[in-house]
Amino acid sequence: MDVRLLELLVCPICKGPVQHDREARQLICPADRLAFPVRDGIPVMLENEAQPWAETPPAPPSLAADAHS
Ligand SMILES: [Zn+2]
Repeated sequence: MDVRLLELLVCPICKGPVQHDREARQLICPADRLAFPVRDGIPVMLENEAQPWAETPPAPPSLAADAHS
């Protein structure tokens, strides 16, 4: 995919920058926690096409489960 094209992509909801997840072939808006699909190399930046995105931590939580939240 053209990197310069990606730089122009923003979330259609919050207008914030999106992250390209190459492995999952989707674009992620961390702010909205939404994942936009990439079909045939074309990002589908449509709100009704977005899927809920749950961030997967690299390591299992150990002491992160505190009582503050
Ligand atoms: Zn967003």
